[in-house]
Amino acid sequence: MASLVRKLSWRINPIVQSFRALSTKPGTATSGEANEQNFGGINFQLSPEQNEFKETARKFAREEIIPKAAEYDRTGEYPWEVIKKAWALGLMNSHIPEDCGGLDLGILECCTITEELAYGCTGIQTAIEANSLGQMPVIIAGNEEQKKKYLGRMTEEPLMCAYCVTEPVAGSDVAGIKTRVEKKGDEYILNGSKMWITNGSVADWYFVLARSSTDPKLPAGKAFTGFILDANTPGVIMGRKELNMGQKCSDTRGITFEDVRIPKENLLGAEGIGFKIAMGAFDKTRPPVAAGAVGLAKRALDEATKYSLERKTMGKPICEHQAVAFMLADMAIGVETARLIMQRSAWEVDQGRRNTYYASIAKAFAADIANKCATDAVQIFGGNGFNSDYPVEKLMRDAKIYQIYEGTAQIQRLIVSRELLTAAKGSW
Ligand SMILES: Cc1cc2nc3c(=O)[nH]c(=O)nc-3n(C[C@H](O)[C@H](O)[C@H](O)COP(=O)(O)OP(=O)(O)OC[C@H]3O[C@@H](n4cnc5c(N)ncnc54)[C@H](O)[C@@H]3O)c2cc1C
Repeated sequence: MASLVRKLSWRINPIVQSFRALSTKPGTATSGEANEQNFGGINFQLSPEQNEFKETARKFAREEIIPKAAEYDRTGEYPWEVIKKAWALGLMNSHIPEDCGGLDLGILECCTITEELAYGCTGIQTAIEANSLGQMPVIIAGNEEQKKKYLGRMTEEPLMCAYCVTEPVAGSDVAGIKTRVEKKGDEYILNGSKMWITNGSVADWYFVLARSSTDPKLPAGKAFTGFILDANTPGVIMGRKELNMGQKCSDTRGITFEDVRIPKENLLGAEGIGFKIAMGAFDKTRPPVAAGAVGLAKRALDEATKYSLERKTMGKPICEHQAVAFMLADMAIGVETARLIMQRSAWEVDQGRRNTYYASIAKAFAADIANKCATDAVQIFGGNGFNSDYPVEKLMRDAKIYQIYEGTAQIQRLIVSRELLTAAKGSW
């Protein structure tokens, strides 16, 4: 804890420090003393520092995101203005290591921030979260030089990056990707097409996964290589901005690579281990994706609760009809339980343990809860819920993607069942 305080005090700018002064109330249940008393066992309480991040992100979402979210949704404009402010407050890139100029926060802290930002607008939160996804392979496998160069610059100015794995022919089936890379002298030559790349056109650099072996029988764990690619490299051809159902201000693109030359210094790890790097990133990024879904679900619950207290039918507020009250109760049950498993999946990886099982449970469950809560919120709003003058139809459109990106609902269940059965077989 002491090291976190130290990290915060040298890195966080004065705005965050002033939020911190507001958020730490001596004598309340969030005091460090109370926290340390519970250190040896299960503790559902955020530390004072985690609480500061939560409060800062919450205030930011209320003041900077919510008032602008509907307009960004309508125009599809990239939310640069909001992103620059979030960057200045230390609300993005928060897991970049200390020696690269970052905050080096744990995944649980990242999740705490993410849930609050997502409460404001998941389009904006996804744009921010895509940075974490792009950075994670470099954090996992980059050498010191690569980390300083590509992560370090993101702490100096508000830059975006992207994770380029999915292709028009393969999403869930990552081993089926066709983009090829060939070594020629001191360079690698990249050819192929990626699809659905978040932050595609605004990224300063990409993590790219490509097939480096021509042997079709080589297992995925040896056939692919990961690279860092500067976005302005000749031969990188940007597709149009995709017009998606929701999260409309997030930038999603196809990207084509035509004889793109990557210097050998940008090879990540070693040739042949790219698949493991690309998949390994998800253990750390799926908990924050789950946190985004929890933020959306909580927003749906809050909007529906408020509306149900105001809207009257048959002489009483609709929340006094049991059918509506029970929908609210089910939404609350979903939010609370999804948050718990999301936090567990983050906590596991912060303990240095393999969290694949928990990360997939959290991502699958929170995504389903976000969709159920958003749909129920629309129901509670009645006809108004179907209209864009009210906030919940956007929530319903925005929620769907949580069951698709970073591994679909079906792929998460595939992973959970595989983990479960492997463990079960091992114990027999
Ligand atoms: C808005 C958006 C942003 C995205 N951002 C990024 C990004 O930044 N970087 C990136 O690399 N990718 C990104 N993606 C891609 C995303 O991760 C893929 O769309 C997703 O993994 C699904 O792949 P697919 O679209 O090819 O669907 P498919 O893999 O073709 O799946 C189609 C359907 O079949 C099911 N299915 C497939 N295989 C199985 C199986 N073995 N068992 C059971 N069911 C199965 C799926 O669950 C799904 O329902 C993004 C996608 C979108 C829409």
